[in-house]
Amino acid sequence: MGAILVVEDDDKLRALVRSYLEAAGLSVLTAGTGAEAISIGQAGDLDLVVLDLGLPDIPGQEVARTLRATTAVPILVLTARSSDEDRVAGLELGVDDYVTKPFVPRELVLRVQAILRRTAATAGEEVQRFGDGGLCIDAARREVTVGGEVVHLTPTEWALLQALASHPGRVYSRAELINRTRGYEYEGYERTVDSHVKNLRRKLQQDPLAAPVIETVVGGGYRLGVRRDR
Ligand code: CA
Repeated sequence: MGAILVVEDDDKLRALVRSYLEAAGLSVLTAGTGAEAISIGQAGDLDLVVLDLGLPDIPGQEVARTLRATTAVPILVLTARSSDEDRVAGLELGVDDYVTKPFVPRELVLRVQAILRRTAATAGEEVQRFGDGGLCIDAARREVTVGGEVVHLTPTEWALLQALASHPGRVYSRAELINRTRGYEYEGYERTVDSHVKNLRRKLQQDPLAAPVIETVVGGGYRLGVRRDR
């Protein structure tokens, strides 16, 4: 199990968050600047980053973008602003959750634990099942089935689906999805992602009246509908 990185320039708040997370049995690293956060984040083995957006050197948004482009670590943002624009901007960064300041430390701990549970559940399973259409993703066999029938995907479609399925319910921006599929086919245009998603949807959706398994989030990007266990 890795550590939780707490990025916060306010010494008192950083110590407070650290003590609450440690009391919950988690191991904690801390950073007071964005540069420090990026270097610790890229060095690896983190389970989650708690990221303050208002940092002295680099904006937290920039830190999130950098971590997102180079790692798959979940990010929980601490923000002093609660307006809707900020919420959408946060979704575009592909963060996993938000806590608005001032917050109750116990609530932050609960949110952190919820994200950790979600990622542990996803990592531990070889076959993931989604939606009402009986979508199954078998990562080990690189096989996708819908209603028991094998669906043939292009390498780019497979990479997109894997990215979305790595954190079910999390919103991925188009830019992030381009990053994830770069090894296969990089054209750099967000519209390219839209057309791949359109093709994926067509292949994955047998019943056109069912809720789409890949959801569009306005101003955000795409996400895979939350998993149904059956
Ligand atoms: Ca701050």
